[in-house]
Amino acid sequence: MYHNPVEAMDRTALEELQVDRLKETIANAKNAPFYEARLSGVNPEDFKTVADIEKLPFTTKEDLRGQYPYGMLTRSLDEFVRLHASSGTTGTPTAVFYTQKDLDTWADLMARCMYACGCRKSDVLQNMSGYGLFTGGLGIHYGSERLGMLTVPAGAGNTKRQIKLIRDFNVSVLHIIPSFALYFAQKVQEEGFDTADMPWKIALIGAEPHTEEARQKIEDMMHIKAYNSYGLSEMNGPGVAFECVHQNGMHIWEDAYIVEIIDLDTGKHVAEGEIGELVMTTITREGMPIIRYRTRDLTRFMPGKCECGRTHRRIDRITGRADDMMILKGVNIYPMQIEQCLMAMPEVGQNYLIELVTEGITDQLKVKVEIKDEYFVEDMRSLQGLQKKIAKNLCNEILLTPRVELCQHNSIPKADGKAVRVIDTREK
Ligand code: ADP
Ligand code: ZN
Repeated sequence: MYHNPVEAMDRTALEELQVDRLKETIANAKNAPFYEARLSGVNPEDFKTVADIEKLPFTTKEDLRGQYPYGMLTRSLDEFVRLHASSGTTGTPTAVFYTQKDLDTWADLMARCMYACGCRKSDVLQNMSGYGLFTGGLGIHYGSERLGMLTVPAGAGNTKRQIKLIRDFNVSVLHIIPSFALYFAQKVQEEGFDTADMPWKIALIGAEPHTEEARQKIEDMMHIKAYNSYGLSEMNGPGVAFECVHQNGMHIWEDAYIVEIIDLDTGKHVAEGEIGELVMTTITREGMPIIRYRTRDLTRFMPGKCECGRTHRRIDRITGRADDMMILKGVNIYPMQIEQCLMAMPEVGQNYLIELVTEGITDQLKVKVEIKDEYFVEDMRSLQGLQKKIAKNLCNEILLTPRVELCQHNSIPKADGKAVRVIDTREK
């Protein structure tokens, strides 16, 4: 039923395990130049409960950048066997180093995630994300092998080849970035295949924010079950939190991480169930432990217990990064609010782009929206009607009327990896 019995561990025992591992982590972290200074005066023995973690200082992305490349490492370089780097979505990338033991722990966590959403040894997994420094390549790859699946390291792009591999090797599980999944679903149909006849049954989707509406669209278009996969390179990569078959929030593995959700401004824990910034501490990583890392990702703990019996708490889908918030005419807007509204409309196709521009003395919000072919008609009046309808629906959601531009499908440029949702050219 579980890949590892620890997934259903009694919570009291789980928290005891966390405290033991936290103490070890603090002691070990002090071997890294950064934490040697930052944690001087901190005694691991003073930590009696998980809540005591609040006594420790946060670690930020800026800290990691400041320590680039080796300042966070607890041992000499010859003990490390791999490095990865973050995608650099919000600035200079950070580097993460792994010992062989760290890679093993990561592969185990990853295999556990895949098992939880129904993958089995008999499955064939095609990894459609880029390999290289991005953790979604090798991270998923080794997890898949660890579970015993036949693994097809397809890498990103080249739609025709992807389809051929899937058909030739009877691929039952895809690892695919959600924005690419929407594009791919369309492409498969254009190549003359019925998505209902493809051998796949499970898609692991993650690496970028996406809404429930986008998931629905992927599931409907592809005839597949899509499971949300969350991770970040600073916490290994994918495999941090994952949906089980109930698709109701992502179990976050508390035997490997201590998880907190804090208020962005005060840094204090939010009330149970409220949205805040996810903060994580690695408690099984030996080479590069990170304490109270401020992920900048916004989420909340889901209430109640999961029907699957796993005791590790679930977090809600990430609503965005704290840095994603756009402020326009005094209104706070997140890109995912826009996606949610667009993807719920039957006329809307697979892609969209948000542009913030300065026109004259005011800032404007423009939303480019790809429209399905059957709605992209020559009749000017219906097009204007559709444009107005989208603007009105968006205004209901974000309280501001954007300028909507209708686009033909596949006309908005697609990034190779994570989607670029916002282009901001405002004069500051
Ligand atoms: P970067 O932060 O430069 O993009 P990473 O490749 O390490 O580098 O990506 C991790 C980030 O990707 C997370 O912090 C989060 O913002 C985003 N992310 C990953 N998985 C998901 C997911 N399932 N839902 C939403 N966002 C996600
Ligand atoms: Zn569950």
